[in-house]
Amino acid sequence: MNSWATVAIPPLDRRFSLPELSLWDTASLGKRPLEKKELYRIYVCGITPYDATHLGHAATYLTFDLIHRYLLATGSRVKFVQNITDIDDPLLERAARDGQDWRELAQSQIDLFRGDMVNLHIIPPDHYIGVVEAMPLVESSIAKLSEAGTTYLVDDDLYFKVHSDSDFGSRSHLSQEKMLEIFSERGGDPARPGKQDPLDALLWLAHRPGEPSWPSRNGDGRPGWHIECCAIALNYLQPDESSATSIDIQGGGSDLIFPHHEMSAVQGKILEGREFASHYVHSGMIGLDGVKMSKSLGNLVFVSKLVAAGSDPMAIRWALMESHYSEDRSWSSQLLEEAEVWIIRLRASLSMMECAPTDGVIDEIIASQSDNLDTVRALRSIKDWIFASESGSSGSSAGELSRALDSLLGLAI
Ligand code: ZN
Repeated sequence: MNSWATVAIPPLDRRFSLPELSLWDTASLGKRPLEKKELYRIYVCGITPYDATHLGHAATYLTFDLIHRYLLATGSRVKFVQNITDIDDPLLERAARDGQDWRELAQSQIDLFRGDMVNLHIIPPDHYIGVVEAMPLVESSIAKLSEAGTTYLVDDDLYFKVHSDSDFGSRSHLSQEKMLEIFSERGGDPARPGKQDPLDALLWLAHRPGEPSWPSRNGDGRPGWHIECCAIALNYLQPDESSATSIDIQGGGSDLIFPHHEMSAVQGKILEGREFASHYVHSGMIGLDGVKMSKSLGNLVFVSKLVAAGSDPMAIRWALMESHYSEDRSWSSQLLEEAEVWIIRLRASLSMMECAPTDGVIDEIIASQSDNLDTVRALRSIKDWIFASESGSSGSSAGELSRALDSLLGLAI
């Protein structure tokens, strides 16, 4: 599937040295540096295209865009893959509710998403893969799991034995009780009779009347959620045989830690015989005015609507960077209004004939970003620089800072 327009990233002057990037890893519950590499492999879970991009999505893809930008700035290459869950229960349910063809609904939302990503200046993935187009490789990964003796049938549906990996649960750190609760909330079926373990994950759902299906060695049907991402990541990122893990970063929102990323990691470990990812990185949830943002509450804020109403996408980026990516945080119209003022002041300072010295603020942005993407600290240093420039401090031209803001923070001012 086509991704979106390439983003030009200005180079950073070589006199700036970039330390290794440290990121919080959900699995080891600690901040660890990424091993220095010439090529990084990153997989980020994409949208289920039944609703437009809301600020929660924007915050997630911004987080991985910042990681992408930092690694590129260090001189390394990045192979970045993202999926689209373009066949799933919520998509079929929404299409049936609205009397729409599920393919048309998916296409319309994918188009909106692409437009939002372009507006937000997000670097496109190298491979943007829909599950439907990846069906043969998903099916072949399922067959490999069966060959490894890790699957069984319940009626005609195929399940994966989660305890095939003795480390099951080690990436998400939840009690059995909590796992059962969340599994049930997020598409799992712990109470289904015939399952060997309540947490065993669906791999292949046999064809149901009225639903789309694809042929497979297990009969016509469609895949479960977790194996899709695992199969797409392993096939499109082409793991390096010499690495300890198949990929470097598995990413997404914190609502994917369990069951989705735990299950993908377990299945990936069986398929490749090693840990799936070096770092499991998760961005926090976004609330609105202190209340959790969710479809059921009807309080989602959509990027496309904000932009259509005249908001500057760079201000949306700035507002999201005003808090740390890993935290659950609240959005408000006041936050956006303040960000818009900062963007105006930043533009004005960058357009001065002479502005405050810029090397210090660039060093501070680099140091902040290398430390688990501390955007709060990075923005604070930019605000200090704006104050200094507005107060008449001079001696520098803004070109180098302008390039650094774009290459490291995606602020194309
Ligand atoms: Zn995923």
